[in-house]
Amino acid sequence: DADRALVRSLVREVADFPAPGVMFRDVAGVLADTGGFAAAVRCLAEVSAAFEPFDHVAGMEARGFMFAAPLAVHLGTGFLPVRKAGKLPPPVHHASYQLEYGTAALEIRDGVVEPGARVLVLDDILATGGTASAGVDLLQRAGAEVVGLVFLMELPELDGRARLGDHRVESVLD
Ligand code: 5GP
Repeated sequence: DADRALVRSLVREVADFPAPGVMFRDVAGVLADTGGFAAAVRCLAEVSAAFEPFDHVAGMEARGFMFAAPLAVHLGTGFLPVRKAGKLPPPVHHASYQLEYGTAALEIRDGVVEPGARVLVLDDILATGGTASAGVDLLQRAGAEVVGLVFLMELPELDGRARLGDHRVESVLD
């Protein structure tokens, strides 16, 4: 539809970033566009409907925040920021995961998720799935029931869905 076509036209492909051989999808143009950002939020809301009801949209730092927060407002849910490790004061839940080179870690404040809360996980891009699966792990350890995952764009050739087990995934673009 028109919203999806607009969003697609605003994602820029950048070859050899951040490393040679990698094709980076830059979503800054979606955020900056008059109408494009709202169109992206409407598209995310449409694919999120499959997972309703849920209490919170969790966004992965940093680009996930930019879409998860307005989606939460649009849907009338809470927003949960899943932070990169080292930013939050204790107590936190912590999950580390493999990157292509080395490891990274995510954290969420202990006590912010009420036991059994239904949480939708959102990020801008699904690549290998490492980030999203660490986010799921963390939210579950914090007591959440993860109802599913939503992405603005997934890169099917990297098969990130395989890392997400039985969790249901919806994306706006691939
Ligand atoms: P994964 O953990 O699935 O390999 O990578 C996904 C994470 O890295 C997401 O948090 C996403 O923001 C970032 N990422 C990976 N590739 C891209 C890309 O091509 N464009 C953007 N904007 N983010 C990417």
